[in-house]
Amino acid sequence: MEKGSKKLAFKEKEDLKTASAINNRGILSKVYGNLNKDNDKPIIPLGHGDPSVFPCFYTTPLAVEAIVDSVRSSQFNCYASSFGIPPARRAVAEYLSLDLSYKLSPDDVYLTAGCAQAIEVIISVLASPEANILLPRPGFPMYESRAAFSHLEARHFDLLPKKGWEIDLDSVEALVDENTVAMVIINPGNPCGNVYTFQHLKKVAETAKKLGIFVIADEVYGHFAFGANSFVPMGELAYIVPVLTLGSISKTWIVPGWRLGWIVLNDPNDILKKAGIVDSIKNYLNIIAHPATFVQGAIPQILEKTEESFFSNVLNIAKKAADICYDKISKIPCITCPHKPEGGMFVMVGLSLSLLDGITDDFDFCLKLAREDSVIVLPGVAVGYKNWLRIAFAVEPSILEEGLERLKKFCQRHALKQEDIHSIVTKNS
Ligand SMILES: *Cc1c(COP(=O)(O)O)cnc(C)c1O
Repeated sequence: MEKGSKKLAFKEKEDLKTASAINNRGILSKVYGNLNKDNDKPIIPLGHGDPSVFPCFYTTPLAVEAIVDSVRSSQFNCYASSFGIPPARRAVAEYLSLDLSYKLSPDDVYLTAGCAQAIEVIISVLASPEANILLPRPGFPMYESRAAFSHLEARHFDLLPKKGWEIDLDSVEALVDENTVAMVIINPGNPCGNVYTFQHLKKVAETAKKLGIFVIADEVYGHFAFGANSFVPMGELAYIVPVLTLGSISKTWIVPGWRLGWIVLNDPNDILKKAGIVDSIKNYLNIIAHPATFVQGAIPQILEKTEESFFSNVLNIAKKAADICYDKISKIPCITCPHKPEGGMFVMVGLSLSLLDGITDDFDFCLKLAREDSVIVLPGVAVGYKNWLRIAFAVEPSILEEGLERLKKFCQRHALKQEDIHSIVTKNS
C-alpha cells in the first residue's frame, strides 16, 4: 500500500455470505461450473424454472403488444408511485378477484419487482430480533436466504411426499411459540408440483388461526395447475385467517425478465392493518426501487386481454412434460418419484444412494451428471431436502426426453453391480 494512503473501510458481511451460499442460484452455479467444456453434448438445463427460452413457451403476442403500446404512449416514462400506478393496482385487484367470493380493492395491492421483491419486502418487514417464521421443507430457498440476511429465525415444517406433499400440520403446531409471526405456503408448489385442495387449505387456515399466526401464500404459480385439483387461492380462506398473497406475471405469462409482481392483502377483518404490518410494508416500499413504470403501464392490457387459449396451450405442454418426466423416472431404478406433479414446473425425486456406486450424496450426483452428461439438475440440499433431486420439467418436450435419457444412462453406468449388492446383502445378514 502506498505511504499515507488509507485502508478501505469495507468489511465483508458474514450473514450475506451465508444468505448467498444457501441460495439455489449459488448452488446451481457450482453445478454449472463442473460442466466439461470438452464434452460436445449440448447442455440440458433442468435446474431452474425459466421456460421463456423455449419457443413452445413464448409468451402471448398480446402481452408483447401491451408492452410496446405502453412504451410508445410516452405516458410511462415517469417515476411510479411507491405502491404502483393506480390502473395497474386496479387491474391486479380485478384479476385476482375473479377467483374470490369477495372483491379486492386496488388499495389492497402493492406492486413489486417480481415475486422475489415481494419476498424481500415481507421478510424484511417481519424481521425483528425475537421473531421467527415457519417455512416449508422442501421449499423455495429465497425465503431462507432473505431470512438469514435479515436475522429472522426460520423454522421448518414438513411437506408429506406420500400425501401429495400436503403440509404436516402437526409439525407446524410443534414449531410455534409466542414469537412466531407467520407461515409460508407455496401453492401450486415449487419444488414439489403440489396443488392443494380447498379442504387442505381450510385446515391450514384453521391451524394458523388457532396458533395466532397469519399466512403468507406464495401463489407465483397461480393457475399453473394441470392435474385433478384446480387452483384455489389461499385468500379465499381470509375470513378465517389473514393472508398476504404474493404473486407475479413471471411464471403464468412466462416473462420472468419483466419483473412485475405483487403483495396483496387478503384481510377482510383488518387484522394485519391493526397490527401495523400494512404500515410497515408501505414504509418499506417507500425506500426501495419499483418495477419499471412502462411494465406497470402494460399490466391492465396483459391481465384483461390475454386469451384463454394461451394458458390452455401452455398448460397442455406442461402436463405433457410432467407425464414424460413421471414415466421416464419410473423406469430408472435408483430414482423414485413419490407424487406425480399436478402444477408448477418442478418435480422432486428421491435418490437411492445404496444402489449407486461411488456417489456420495445428491450434490455429488449433480456435479458428476453435469460433468459426464451435460445435464443440469438441482441437488435437493438446495431446497432443504438432502439426497433428493429437483427436476424442472417445463422445457421443450424433446429436450426433456433427451435429458432424462442421459440421466437414465448415467444411473446405469453408476449402478452397483448385482454381485456387489449380493455381497452387501449377505454381509449384513
Ligand atoms: C420463481 C419464484 C419466485 C420469484 O418470482 P419472480 O416473479 O420471478 O421474482 C418466488 N417464489 C417461488 C416459489 C418461485 O418459484
